[in-house]
Amino acid sequence: MNPEDLLSRIRVVLCRPSHPGNIGAAARAMKTMGLSDLHLVAPRSFPDAEADARATGAVDVLQAAKVHADLPAALAGVRLAIALSARRRDLGPPVGDVRAMAAQALVEAAAGEVALVFGNETVGLSNDEVLCCQAAVSIPAKPEFSSLNLGAAVQILCYELRMAAFDAAPPTPDFRATPFASPTATVEEVEGLYAHLEAVALASGFLNPAQPGRLMPKLRRLFARARPERDEINILRGLLAATQQPTGHGRKR
Ligand code: SAH
Repeated sequence: MNPEDLLSRIRVVLCRPSHPGNIGAAARAMKTMGLSDLHLVAPRSFPDAEADARATGAVDVLQAAKVHADLPAALAGVRLAIALSARRRDLGPPVGDVRAMAAQALVEAAAGEVALVFGNETVGLSNDEVLCCQAAVSIPAKPEFSSLNLGAAVQILCYELRMAAFDAAPPTPDFRATPFASPTATVEEVEGLYAHLEAVALASGFLNPAQPGRLMPKLRRLFARARPERDEINILRGLLAATQQPTGHGRKR
């Protein structure tokens, strides 16, 4: 796949942006680097004249932007979501290196849609938002002042992606592929598994809703690391569904 086509498969998701100017700056940053698929989760004000003004020649990216009520909706159809965070976090996927992640994002883009997920200007990404992602990156910065402007963070990621896309490095083969491999599960499919696991954990009494602890975040971390295939999700959901039946095969009579 040619580099421009790969870049067109990478979406930028801005979670709860408060300043319309930053939405415009993000659109411009994207267009200069060959990205165009902008998604907004609950923007405070959009469309907005300030966004148009900051986008200048990239108003087309703003006009095509899709607005969603929450992050799972913005990640529909995505196979890999990467959280951008300036802070170290106890929960969520391990934080990777920007350059290595840009290269991986392009390999993944050859197989499907990839999302870069950015947080709100004041509070960043919530833990729930980070837990919707399978990977995380932090832009290296001075430790005492590491929080970049949102538009600047988008620009750096888009630049790194463009550099990686045009590096002429052939996409690395997927060594995990086996003759019986099925496609990597989408974010929606993995979310379906989490909901199912939680339902069974609650119904069985394993999970006490009054004291949930870190069960679900830990399970999310496990599956984010594993990057399960669609068939694997189906097996696990089939197994869970079987435990929800009053009787079934293999049960002791
Ligand atoms: N005060 C917030 C930062 C908000 S900056 C916090 O402490 O999390 C807005 C967004 O830009 C962040 O949510 C993140 O997505 C991105 N960002 C800013 N600086 C970054 C950095 N050094 N590395 C990765 N993402 C960064």
